Amino acid sequence: MRGLSGRTALVTGGAGGIGSAVAVRLADEGVRVVIADRDHEAARRVAAGLSGPAIALALDVAERASWEALVDSLPADFAGISILANIAGITRDRSLAKMQDADWDAVINVNLRGTWLGCQTAFRLFADHGKGGAIINIASTAIFGTFGQANYSSAKAGITGLTRTAAIEGAKRGIRVNAVAPGVIATPMVMAVPEEIRAKWTGQILAGRFGTPAEIAAVVAFLASDDASYVTGQTLIADGGATTGDF
Ligand code: NAD
Repeated sequence: MRGLSGRTALVTGGAGGIGSAVAVRLADEGVRVVIADRDHEAARRVAAGLSGPAIALALDVAERASWEALVDSLPADFAGISILANIAGITRDRSLAKMQDADWDAVINVNLRGTWLGCQTAFRLFADHGKGGAIINIASTAIFGTFGQANYSSAKAGITGLTRTAAIEGAKRGIRVNAVAPGVIATPMVMAVPEEIRAKWTGQILAGRFGTPAEIAAVVAFLASDDASYVTGQTLIADGGATTGDF
């Protein structure tokens, strides 16, 4: 049933902690992978380390012209994309009162506008081969609100609405659209947070630990696969039970 082998995926943010784990997982399941990232050199390194065919292309997800250039530069053997994982994202944390226009605009543009442009591009690319496909967006448990993240939690909550609307509009085109909302995942960015704050976070997680990029990649691969053929419009929370809580 899995139905991933032989397909082609585009992974934005594929040079990052979670994105590179998604690229590794998909490649291990026989998927050809296009790694698209603002950091082209890091994307190249990830592509070179995968177990199957992969290429790295430069992309700024917030810029329409950059998406158009990426589509134009896709080599023929990677053109049949039927999976898009919209993983690129940034944070610029500051309390709401102190947040600057630039903090707000950058985070909304990369996380929300970037995911919207990705969905639009995928609708076009998937139509080119006429077989539909799967889009997986990355939200966050920040959708429930987190101190210092007015921009990020708004963008990620926006992604859950975008995901449902894209699922509605994609259904007649054979496109499923879902999101994953990770909790705290042990990427370099998170591990740079002071230990006492990390200990406090760990205490709120039913699993008693942070998640790994590979655990999020497994959820993304499930949603991309035919095993999830009856799942669309959903935001799947993968947070070790942190938002389930034991109050
Ligand atoms: P990361 O910083 O390791 O990776 C992000 C990647 O996105 C980087 O490779 C970066 O170069 C790329 N990127 C940033 N801006 C871009 C742009 N404009 N165009 C193209 N690429 C761009 O971060 P991560 O921890 O792997 O996070 C990946 C995704 O998961 C993000 O959307 C993040 O919001 C989300 N997320 C992360 C966590 C966590 O705990 N790490 C939790 C919830 C959600």
